Amino acid sequence: MAPARKCDVLVIGLGPAGAAAAAAAARAGLDVVAVDRRETVGVPVQCAEFIPLPLGSYAQAPGVLVQRIAGMTSVLPSGVAHRADFPGLMIDRARFDQALADGARDAGAEILMRTALIGLDAGSKQATLRDPHGPLTIDYRVLVAADGPHSRTAAVLGLPRLASVCTRQYTVPLRHAHADTDIWLAPEYPGGYAWLFPKGASANLGLGMDARLEGDMRTPLDRLHAGLVAAGRVGPEILARTGGPIPVGGLRARLVERDVVFAGDAAGLTHPISGAGIAAAVISGERAGAAAGAWCAGDANAWRDYEEDIRDQFEASLARAVRRRRSLARFWSTAAARSDRFHRRGWIAFREYFDDTLDDAFDDSSNVALPRSLAA
Ligand SMILES: Cc1cc2nc3c(=O)[nH]c(=O)nc-3n(C[C@H](O)[C@H](O)[C@H](O)COP(=O)(O)OP(=O)(O)OC[C@H]3O[C@@H](n4cnc5c(N)ncnc54)[C@H](O)[C@@H]3O)c2cc1C
Repeated sequence: MAPARKCDVLVIGLGPAGAAAAAAAARAGLDVVAVDRRETVGVPVQCAEFIPLPLGSYAQAPGVLVQRIAGMTSVLPSGVAHRADFPGLMIDRARFDQALADGARDAGAEILMRTALIGLDAGSKQATLRDPHGPLTIDYRVLVAADGPHSRTAAVLGLPRLASVCTRQYTVPLRHAHADTDIWLAPEYPGGYAWLFPKGASANLGLGMDARLEGDMRTPLDRLHAGLVAAGRVGPEILARTGGPIPVGGLRARLVERDVVFAGDAAGLTHPISGAGIAAAVISGERAGAAAGAWCAGDANAWRDYEEDIRDQFEASLARAVRRRRSLARFWSTAAARSDRFHRRGWIAFREYFDDTLDDAFDDSSNVALPRSLAA
């Protein structure tokens, strides 16, 4: 094996978290190497491609922005549809990730594709990677773990694998222009929901489910697709298929372990109810890159500050989502999951979701969420 290359910051993964971290660390003047096991940044796309409006400043490169979204329509089991303003953008996710990686390269980061982390000696700060020519080693001062939901970095450090839900998605032709995201809440999607996100002349139609509650995702997705075809909303062709895990267990117990800094999905930052994680990945990646810069410049509090900052921004909302998931999970296979009340409690578009005075003690015959004082 060739002698180890040295760098200040080694970034594992070039999704939004890793690319943002590499750019921030390179802008701080550090020697940065960023690697990804994929051949091409952002490909294959495993995403429904919605970002919240405030992330629009990251969507300005040519080809990234596809269309604007005004609101979100959530359809309950009774058929009642609830519409709320929920402005955002539909993006070409591959172009989005590529533009972020271009930014890291322009800032001076060295980018190595088809290069996977396979081992890590956190004591001597040496990572073992594999590229098409074989294994190579890199000595680092800081390692940013931005390697997604099933982080290999976490695995080789002996850290627990994050709980996740499974997703399955088709891209289908859209018959009529549409400016809302549509969400379906139903017992057919236990531990998750189904979505139609319009993307110009096509749309991403998918669903997420807790695989422990129900293994078959194809049947409910095909049924939803057929219903939308019959309603004249989408075409029968399937233009692309994707899917992948989404972490739903909330933040890791610690975000920094022995100068290894976790960001994005690898840190558990994806929202456990909505599955949204792009914004948190970019924000945490940038913050991780800046913290790496501070630590390399001698700031002994850099890791504590990173941990506190990320928890301040995300922990309350993630913790509420984890609580809702856990308590509602007990009722997915009961009659309660057929009631609108159950889904209003469990979905971010409804005020009941944010009401911490309600208890999640559902009576599965009356389907009422009891006030905390009445719940056993
Ligand atoms: C079907 C689906 C739909 C989604 N829809 C949305 C949505 O509409 N909006 C939203 O905000 N979020 C959505 N998400 C979640 C969002 O995609 C993630 O939260 C986001 O990608 C997290 O970014 P990341 O950089 O942390 O990780 P990732 O984007 O997963 O990037 C991790 C990178 O690490 C690389 N990697 C992994 N292991 C190694 C290794 N050993 N060595 C080197 N490289 C490695 C991977 O190749 C990958 O490029 C969706 C997720 C799924 C699965």
